[in-house]
Amino acid sequence: MIYTGGTLGMTYDAAGQLRPFDFAQILDNLPELDRLAFTLSVIALEPPIDSSNVTPTHWLQWANLIAEHYDSHDGFVILHGTDTMAYSASALSFLLDGLAKPVVFTGAQLPIGSIRTDARENLITALEIASARDAVGNPLVPEVCIYFHSRLLRGNRAKKVESTQFDAFYSENYPPLAEAGVTIEYRPALISPYTSGRTLRIQPRLDDRVAVLRLFPGLSRPVVESLLHTSGLRAVVLETYGSGNAPTTGWFTDCIAAAIRNGLVVFNVSQCMGGRVVQGRYATSRHLLDIGVRSGADITTEAAVTKLMYLLGSGDLTQIIVPIRGEMTL
Ligand code: ASP
Repeated sequence: MIYTGGTLGMTYDAAGQLRPFDFAQILDNLPELDRLAFTLSVIALEPPIDSSNVTPTHWLQWANLIAEHYDSHDGFVILHGTDTMAYSASALSFLLDGLAKPVVFTGAQLPIGSIRTDARENLITALEIASARDAVGNPLVPEVCIYFHSRLLRGNRAKKVESTQFDAFYSENYPPLAEAGVTIEYRPALISPYTSGRTLRIQPRLDDRVAVLRLFPGLSRPVVESLLHTSGLRAVVLETYGSGNAPTTGWFTDCIAAAIRNGLVVFNVSQCMGGRVVQGRYATSRHLLDIGVRSGADITTEAAVTKLMYLLGSGDLTQIIVPIRGEMTL
């Protein structure tokens, strides 16, 4: 179990603000951990952070930490703030190439010390999932996922959808891998199959020269131009309308086309929670196809941003429009 921070481990300070706190209080609030049927190692990273402060450097650090402890452990739980958990889970799904063990992210909407906390159930069930094996001893969920409020979601398909209800994560384009009630019901047909003999390999670099350009009616030319002219920028996630649609206004098309000609990768991701980008379905997306915008199909923005960082870091963008970790369906 790797503790990175987040509300789960926070307490209220004198000003009534939630701040990351010492990991020891988590263990004090969870005497159940002594009754687990397996051995638990705990790594508390210092300092614990609010996940708004997560950076790609943290993702590389966590991926390498998992690699370091990979052979001696059967599964991993990462305690993380909910705000950027979907980004972190996506990033780790790409970084952990050859993963054959569970990596389960979880967190909470209320600190573990609160009477009505959701932290206890989330954490205990995440541990149970990370240690779950089939009849021949293979892990049931050998992939990066998020467990939250009774649902196990593929990490690179999940989005934070709630800041007040306990039901904080959802995956509109891929069904839950498991649901936890009195028992945990796994759906093997939806889970990446376990393959023996795989070697974990961590790419040493992520390239953060990525931006997100979200369309809205009234988006002005100076804003688009200044973003596309950002020095060193390598890729843009273009958050379009509906099934991948964008204005057909001449200046907009010309700006994007010029940027692509200059080597920028433009990745079309819909602002909709569900459904997919189909460039050419409407006249308002045909121009994007014609100028070389790449279709994100049903990928989330969180997965698109981190996939671009990963592929740019590898120097090979050929896999941008194909699924590499179950993050999109063609
Ligand atoms: N701001 C917190 C974080 O993401 C929210 C949470 O953990 O739920 O670290």
